[in-house]
Amino acid sequence: MSIPSIIVERLSKTFGRSPVLRDIGFEIHAGEMVALIGPSGSGKSTLLRHLVGLTRADRHGGRVRLQGREVQAAGRLVSARRHERCRVGYIFQQFNLVGRLSVLTNVLVGRLGRMPRGRALLARFTEAERAMARRALARVGLAQLADQRANTLSGGQMQRVAIARVLMQDAEIILADEPIASLDPRSAQEVMQILQRIHEEDGRTVVITLHQVDVARRFCKRAIALKDGRLYFDGPIGGLTDARLTALYDNAGLDEL
Ligand code: ADP
Ligand code: MG
Repeated sequence: MSIPSIIVERLSKTFGRSPVLRDIGFEIHAGEMVALIGPSGSGKSTLLRHLVGLTRADRHGGRVRLQGREVQAAGRLVSARRHERCRVGYIFQQFNLVGRLSVLTNVLVGRLGRMPRGRALLARFTEAERAMARRALARVGLAQLADQRANTLSGGQMQRVAIARVLMQDAEIILADEPIASLDPRSAQEVMQILQRIHEEDGRTVVITLHQVDVARRFCKRAIALKDGRLYFDGPIGGLTDARLTALYDNAGLDEL
């Protein structure tokens, strides 16, 4: 059996006095596509931020391993470098593109793992890298927009560019935090289909927080649900019965269902 992609053990996080993650534990195997669900404020984004290394766990707050490498332990956050080596890519609700740069450049930046300063750096990309970026854009159906400025795109197109950027990173683990929350239904469906195709064709591990349970059901076999920072459910998504969902979103607005 392969090494699990993601292992979370007894992960806890407190902001001030508020416990936001309480003793969370699970394993995700390479090539799984998992929906992370739960009401607003249940800790989904905080959990993903711990996985990608944007947030540090409590001192006795457990640990996180990606592809067998410890990235969080005993309140220590292992360097961003290690996250790079683990090849983990992050997709944001708000896309995080640089609007004044071209679509192709936004994808190429995935290669660097951070924003370069000035145009000189951009000139350093090789022809091979440019070709790879164009292939990534073709996979998300945007080859024809490579030279357009990013800020001229629709939200759905911007999110597809963000997916091309994690392909350029060659991320084996893709973490997406509400990637379709600001999209219209049609663009949302396109983005989900692209993520699913990447997951199926390349065997990449995808963990995606979703607001809509029906979307999770359509695209993911497994769900992990948080409630008040605790693991409420982890299993085949079919196990999320109506009764369990009602209890999960208990006290939450109906619009969350
Ligand atoms: P979700 O993504 O499920 O909506 P979050 O992980 O964003 O939930 O937030 C969980 C809880 O943690 C919320 O109560 C939120 O206010 C709190 N929280 C998140 N980030 C911080 C922070 N940096 N400082 C203080 N509280 C935070
Ligand atoms: Mg969130």
